[in-house]
Amino acid sequence: MVITTKDLQHLFALIAADIAAQRDHLCELDGAIGDGDHGLAMDAGCEAAAKAVAALDPAQAAPTAVFNAAAKAFLNAVGASSGPLYATAFMRAGAAVKGRPALADEEFVRAFAAMAEGIRERGKAEPGEKTMVDAWKPAADAALEAWASGASLLECLDLAEQAARQGCEATRDMTAAKGRASRLGERVIGHIDPGAASAAIVIASLAKFAQHRDG
Ligand code: ADP
Ligand code: MG
Repeated sequence: MVITTKDLQHLFALIAADIAAQRDHLCELDGAIGDGDHGLAMDAGCEAAAKAVAALDPAQAAPTAVFNAAAKAFLNAVGASSGPLYATAFMRAGAAVKGRPALADEEFVRAFAAMAEGIRERGKAEPGEKTMVDAWKPAADAALEAWASGASLLECLDLAEQAARQGCEATRDMTAAKGRASRLGERVIGHIDPGAASAAIVIASLAKFAQHRDG
């Protein structure tokens, strides 16, 4: 069963709802080691993305247009550093599925991996630097590896969700090498990274999306 523009519209709505539900929690996490706006930034970005995507006519817009609309809306809605990071992620997903009228499961896995790679390249962050890359990279690696060994999309995204959670939890013991938290040195130890926490929520939404489809 392919993933259509309509399915992607549902996915962006799901992400926006899941992030909105955690908005205050994400602000609290950012309050401890940043400027306290991460929940507001992600909520505004995801809501704008979902709205822009919902406005597209599924009969006219291919998946690449969905991701591009999400990227543009997210960037315009968010002034914080998560803005260009997620905009790049969605642009890369759009490029990964260019020309496809609907997505086979493998193409969805590739789009997911392209998002993680886009964030890593845009932020120039590597795992271990206490950023959202600590959730995105292991999640994408887990999904790609599972897909290569014959797993279903649902299995891939469940494994990605677990890897993202673990990656997020691991940021607790790190000092930050990128972003605002990098100015605080050892003081950030003991706190999870807000961007890794929101990434884990977004990736859990992707897994939920696959569960709805297949479950
Ligand atoms: P700001 O720091 O501008 O207020 P947000 O609060 O929206 O932006 O996002 C903060 C999160 O952005 C951090 O928790 C971290 O995960 C992520 N981040 C910051 N800089 C980078 C970077 N260079 N690469 C990847 N992620 C980053
Ligand atoms: Mg912030």
